[in-house]
Amino acid sequence: HMPTAELQALDAAHHMHPFTHNNELEQKGARIITRAKGVTLTDSEGNHILDAMGGLWCVNIGYGRDELAEVAARQMRELPYYNTFFQTTHVPVIALSAKLAELAPGDLNQVFYAGSGSEANDTNIRMVRTYWAEMGQPERNVIISRKNAYHGSSIGSGSLGGMSGMHAQGGMPIPDIHHIDQPYWYAEGGDSDPEEFGLARARQLEEKIEELGAHHVAAFIAEPIQGAGGVIIPPDSYWPEIQRICNKYGVLLIADEVICGFGRTGNWFGSQTLNIRPDIMTIAKGLSSGYAPIGGSIVSDKIAEVMNDCEFNHGYTYSGHPVSCAVALENLRILEEEKIVERVAQDTGPYLQEKWRALADHPLVGEARIVGMMGSLALTPHKESRATFAADAGTAGYICRERCFANNLVMRHVGDRMIVSPPLVITKDEIDTLAERAWASLDQAAVKLKE
Ligand code: PLP
Repeated sequence: HMPTAELQALDAAHHMHPFTHNNELEQKGARIITRAKGVTLTDSEGNHILDAMGGLWCVNIGYGRDELAEVAARQMRELPYYNTFFQTTHVPVIALSAKLAELAPGDLNQVFYAGSGSEANDTNIRMVRTYWAEMGQPERNVIISRKNAYHGSSIGSGSLGGMSGMHAQGGMPIPDIHHIDQPYWYAEGGDSDPEEFGLARARQLEEKIEELGAHHVAAFIAEPIQGAGGVIIPPDSYWPEIQRICNKYGVLLIADEVICGFGRTGNWFGSQTLNIRPDIMTIAKGLSSGYAPIGGSIVSDKIAEVMNDCEFNHGYTYSGHPVSCAVALENLRILEEEKIVERVAQDTGPYLQEKWRALADHPLVGEARIVGMMGSLALTPHKESRATFAADAGTAGYICRERCFANNLVMRHVGDRMIVSPPLVITKDEIDTLAERAWASLDQAAVKLKE
């Protein structure tokens, strides 16, 4: 019950925030979120804020579901912790694994758990290299990823990621990770036809494999739709060509479903929406709707068969944590029984899409694209030429995000792209509010940009 200013001062003095210029917070003070219900956050000053980001793209079932709290409390009383190393297991991890095998497409039938998406992608790096070594091809150790991708913040997953700002700090990337260009037609496609551009960007994978030699390439990793890179929705031509190339060279395909998974794109997994057949899927975030930390890798029978034949010297204290597994299982039950994924595909999803696309009429917006419930706006000073705010990149996005925040709407900005990824339970009334506040914030940002 301390006053906000005192809490902010303590926060600035003792808490180092991720991805934040902490000295700026010292002057401004962080907004203190105290409660949340559905899609609405409440802050320490009593403001109600519409969270159009679902936290960090994760609170798929919305905030404040008592069922998850009850399951967690019950599990903590019964068995708060036990490990899954050295031939032991427990009921929550068994039940969750069986459920994930049922939901996952194709023959993705076994799960290796982690505490987060970053840890899961670290697992994937070691898993695919171990797979090829066990197959008698230890030199097949290169992983190809994409520029501007985000796959986590650990040194392994950050290396898979292609964000130059991250690579500039702390010694990344680790060796034998290569990056090709992203299928980002709006900013990089120039005068080309989007589908031709998509094909050309996919063919960079083939060129890279040829350059390195297929016998050196273990895997390609990508999100079905790049999220933190700015919700980059690829042209339709892109994924079929990537799939063809992976098949042709026997390169394993890792779909990072950390954002796209668990209903975000209108199917259980983004791989189903984009018609991809991955060998491994990375999962986290929506798996527990963020109520408990958990991540994992769901792997195909082909990989599991080889990996199960050796001892994989890898694992985390919290691999298959019983409380996280129980919470995740309850979250999946709610997603399934309340037909939340179907609503994204057929009801509230299309409604949000219509409202979102209408924002393209705003003078500041060059394109408004969305799949399921993940969307982006490209801010532009000149619609026709798809120009960007070159002088001080990110300024327009930053100003727009600030205006949203002042108007009690959380949207994220990635450079000059504005992002939404709301809880999947958002109602039509709340979608109207989201669209109204977004438009008003764009208006105010446009005025500020002219100043
Ligand atoms: N992969 C993707 C696609 C992500 O968006 C993220 C986080 O935003 C991660 C991996 C890393 O997950 P975590 O933050 O749980 O480590």
